[in-house]
Amino acid sequence: MTTDETIADFPELPQIVADNASCKTRDPDLWFPVRRVRRELVVQYAATICAGCPVLDECREWAINAPDQYGIWGGLDRIELRRRRAARAGGAGIEDVAS
Ligand code: SF4
Repeated sequence: MTTDETIADFPELPQIVADNASCKTRDPDLWFPVRRVRRELVVQYAATICAGCPVLDECREWAINAPDQYGIWGGLDRIELRRRRAARAGGAGIEDVAS
């Protein structure tokens, strides 16, 4: 994904998510923070937008089942998505999925 694209342009995203994503008209940098400075604030802001998104459940489900993706999907960052995947798979510990 380039910096000019939005989440809605992500080719593997289900169409219902792409069509209804609350993030599709917003700066994609918020969902793909590249700088460590203020990363926590950026993640929190993106998650706040996700919380009100009409396709939150669909997006989150896709992200949990998708190959490991960088960025915020369904209000969850990469580490939390890994935790959810591990929990479904029956379980690696947090230390196993946090790297
Ligand atoms: S849940 Fe978040 S990342 Fe997913 S489509 Fe909605 S706003 Fe975008």
